[in-house]
Amino acid sequence: MARKEQEPQKMRELRAPFQKGALALSAFLFLAASSGYGKPPDGRENPIIPTPTPSLLPIFLTSPTSTPIPEAFPTAIKEPTELFIIPFNFESKIIDSMETFGDDKPLSQTDLLKLYKQLNSKEQEMRNDTYYGTIFIAKKIIDEFQITNGGETFQEFLKRHEKAFNQMVQEQPYPDTNKLQLRRLIVVEDAVEPPYCYTLNNEIKDSDGGWSFVENLYFPKKAPYYDKNVGIDYGLEHEFAHAFLHLPDQYSLDFGSSDWLPESITENVPAQWKKYSASSRNDIGQDLMNNANQRIGIYTNLQILRRVLQEEVHNNKKTVPEVWWNFPYEIPEKTTFAFGKDYSRAAVDIFQSVEVDEDKRPSEYNRKKKLELIGNYTNSEDGNLTLTKDKLFLTPNNPDNLIKAENSTLFLLVTTTDGKQYFRWMDIRDFNIPFWLGYQEQINMNFKLASGKDDPKTFDWRIKYSNEENR
Ligand SMILES: [Zn+2]
Repeated sequence: MARKEQEPQKMRELRAPFQKGALALSAFLFLAASSGYGKPPDGRENPIIPTPTPSLLPIFLTSPTSTPIPEAFPTAIKEPTELFIIPFNFESKIIDSMETFGDDKPLSQTDLLKLYKQLNSKEQEMRNDTYYGTIFIAKKIIDEFQITNGGETFQEFLKRHEKAFNQMVQEQPYPDTNKLQLRRLIVVEDAVEPPYCYTLNNEIKDSDGGWSFVENLYFPKKAPYYDKNVGIDYGLEHEFAHAFLHLPDQYSLDFGSSDWLPESITENVPAQWKKYSASSRNDIGQDLMNNANQRIGIYTNLQILRRVLQEEVHNNKKTVPEVWWNFPYEIPEKTTFAFGKDYSRAAVDIFQSVEVDEDKRPSEYNRKKKLELIGNYTNSEDGNLTLTKDKLFLTPNNPDNLIKAENSTLFLLVTTTDGKQYFRWMDIRDFNIPFWLGYQEQINMNFKLASGKDDPKTFDWRIKYSNEENR
């Protein structure tokens, strides 16, 4: 192709392993190994973490939208020019390795505004491999915490959670992206309202987000995802990932309703396949961003890695919309479903989840969606079906290049020439993953279809990715 000829020599070298099929193979092994498939649902017990495949990262860099890998990362905040004299100075204390404001005298709402100016007057390092957070806690909540937690300070508790978060990061297939650093704890008066957690209303320049303990007393040991063996509230870690890394809930991709199914599905598909639990899929479901699993999965890992490579880590305008249940509309230009010879000339109906009209919508999040037929096709003699990206997700024009969770789930209904029916749920993650692994133009997906006998819990959900040029 013309575009390839214009590529510099370096890029061609980087692309070479991809063309030889090395990447295709490693990508498959990599996903299979990291999926924890066949393991107990708790991946933490015995996580299989493959060795990162160095060929993958340079391939990613050949993306026309990505920028070269940043060198050593630190980017300092610019000194705000409007600040001349700081007439106030809140003193902080280091308590159990965490900078703390308001330990002696909790801050009022007015104090907070002044503190923001004080904090912003000082340059702080913003590394491209780290997300930064500020924590707020009301005076009565921190006092109660210390009474009910055997004398452990809240700072110690937070530091342990920072460490455990970074441990999960270290266990990812691509470690070193992205760490968490809790910059400070601010103790506030009981009625104070801290800024909005995901953005801090852009008040604190050295933090990507914040988390506040101001409304209810906090008893971590009673929290639903508390693991007493390690003293970690994984529900809180999940919230930290929202607040500081701006990651979406992957369970937002679930399809939970049978109220809104088209007739062809109501009539032909067994009950267990009329619903979809994106969050409990046994290949990519085990992730902190599902049901507070105690690990970070491949999807989340690649999602944050791509921000590092695009130097968007601290760009809230770009990252925050993702936390609001939006997924990057970054999928290969062309996808081939390689169903195989058994599905030669089979009919394939593709359905996409769409939002139910607002006035008919029930309150439960997973019943806001219905399935709509978006295309019907016939497989080739070989049992392949190739579709361009616009045929897979009909998506409203979205300037942020995002797709709403409501529109991000697919259902495939395959009818063979002898009338047997098979099905498969997919979602946007299945298309993001190959894109982020370097398959931006073309991807082959090899996967199993379910029959009425299959159980979604034990079904082999794995997808084998490869590139057509290698077949
Ligand atoms: Zn969540």
